[in-house]
Amino acid sequence: MAVIGAGTMGIGISHRFAARGFTVHVVDVDLATAKEAVERIEETLRTAVERGKLDTDEADAAVARLQPASGVDALPVGLDVIVEAVIEDVPLKRGILAAAEARQPRILATNTSSISIDQLAEGLSSPATFAGMHFFNPVWAMPLVEVVRGSATSAETLKEIGALVDALGMEQAVVNDAPGFATSRLGVLVGIEAIRMVEQGVASPQDIDTAMRLGYRHPMGPLMLGDLVGLDVRLKIADHLASVYGDRFEPPALLREMVARGDLGRKSGRGFYDWSSGSPLPIEET
Ligand code: NAD
Repeated sequence: MAVIGAGTMGIGISHRFAARGFTVHVVDVDLATAKEAVERIEETLRTAVERGKLDTDEADAAVARLQPASGVDALPVGLDVIVEAVIEDVPLKRGILAAAEARQPRILATNTSSISIDQLAEGLSSPATFAGMHFFNPVWAMPLVEVVRGSATSAETLKEIGALVDALGMEQAVVNDAPGFATSRLGVLVGIEAIRMVEQGVASPQDIDTAMRLGYRHPMGPLMLGDLVGLDVRLKIADHLASVYGDRFEPPALLREMVARGDLGRKSGRGFYDWSSGSPLPIEET
């Protein structure tokens, strides 16, 4: 298999495939960057050994399966699957997907988190073998692949992707191509409603999060999750979904204000929690 774009997600996807026995060709902007990415994937595999998730022999074998590649055109013809994981940019992804298709993989997949599969399929000569395989960060710990079926994706392709997901030891949720797929659409709706509740003084962020953790067994409350994802990222997705689905995705004013003043969550040190110490602490009312 091959992964194109070895950033946060490409590294995790490569790790998963290599650990499960696949030879992984790693492509980034040039060979030197691909080699650096392979070193980073190796580090993640070593960390998995330290954490007792993989034994040393498995990690050694996985490392031996990683192959940096100088570009898409250098990939072997006829791979089982190529996963595109470059930045979220339609023209860039389209160009990469067309070049990848020329290598005639059995399955061509994109890890896009928001772009329509049909939009990305425009220009492909065999969209029947193309689908979304949406992985979650960190890929070695998150068991879901959200499989996104474009209007041209064939039943045979979905069956092959199902077999791949099994081979990765993961689980799939299959959704039709619709903005926000299943995960972002539901996750963002809960997240922005929680923000509206803070705005309206229904409860503090901590109490809302505690309610959802203990009452609904969510592993993390929606406000802490928003802080971890990044409130700017959440706002961007909510704006996009509001443009498609209307008012129910309209971002609350509080979210816009927080993003405008740079309170983006963990990455900026402050969001619905104070992250300046590295751990989330309640924000004291002034
Ligand atoms: P990233 O910026 O960490 O990585 C993108 C990689 O693509 C970089 O290594 C970059 O050098 C490489 N790249 C750029 N142009 C390229 C080219 N022409 N050829 C080859 N490589 C190229 O981004 P990311 O967070 O890993 O996101 C990648 C994709 O995964 C996006 O579509 C994103 O929406 C999606 N996604 C991200 C997350 C997340 O939590 N970060 C989760 C699910 C899906």
